[in-house]
Amino acid sequence: MKVFISVDMEGISGVATGQQMQDPEYGRFRKLMTQDTNAAIAGAFEAGATEVLVGDSHGNMSNILIEELDPRARLISGSNKLLCQMEGIDETFDAAYFVGYHGREGGSERAVINHTISGLCVTEIRINGRPVGEAEINAGIAGYYGVPCVLITGDDVLAEEVKETLPDIEAAIVKRGIDRFTAELLSPQHAQEIIKEKAKLGLQKAKSIKPYQVAGKVTFEIEFKLTNQAQMCTLFPTVELISPKTIRIETDDYVVGYKQLWGCLILGMKATRSVLGG
Ligand SMILES: [Zn+2]
Repeated sequence: MKVFISVDMEGISGVATGQQMQDPEYGRFRKLMTQDTNAAIAGAFEAGATEVLVGDSHGNMSNILIEELDPRARLISGSNKLLCQMEGIDETFDAAYFVGYHGREGGSERAVINHTISGLCVTEIRINGRPVGEAEINAGIAGYYGVPCVLITGDDVLAEEVKETLPDIEAAIVKRGIDRFTAELLSPQHAQEIIKEKAKLGLQKAKSIKPYQVAGKVTFEIEFKLTNQAQMCTLFPTVELISPKTIRIETDDYVVGYKQLWGCLILGMKATRSVLGG
């Protein structure tokens, strides 16, 4: 059985503030990110996994400490990825895990470090008109390849948020959200016991969990924070500006649409700093 693990950082055990993911605190939290990942890997192997691929999915996507990673797993490190946080997944996998995930931008005042892909750019991302977070967007990619999402780890708000689209996913709640930059934390040791247990349970029932598939015509919308971010996306002829800050992508193929969404976010981030060309 093959398991794909996408690992973000905001929902990692012990993380409550943005500063903890930057120097001088960054080293401590990279270690915790690696430990949470190892807990999920251990649970996967206990449930019968034979292969685990980990995708480092935060910031520059080279956070996980390879020298401390469970030697049974492989790691995708680096940030030029066509599928962003899901780079590496395909139809050969039996299950996907989301470790260290977080609530969507503005979804709840209690969601710890809530944002959607880019805190700098995004007010809201919608799929077929519905506001979504990273877990749901990425679950759609897994579902496209027929892969069910069976584990999510992060705060209690996230566990609630994904229930509508991923009703059968196992949620390892490692903190209780109080404010965007405040959380009530479990000790990493306790949190990692829960992650391992839920990872095991999730994989054991993977065959009975339906992949999240967004079939047929799909519409992605990004409501940006600034007009310049939205405007530059119209460099792509398939992208429509529907309001000064909002763009729309319509497609029949989820991953084709997702790649345009990701491309728009890259352009939006670049436009934030002014586009000089060359
Ligand atoms: Zn992140």
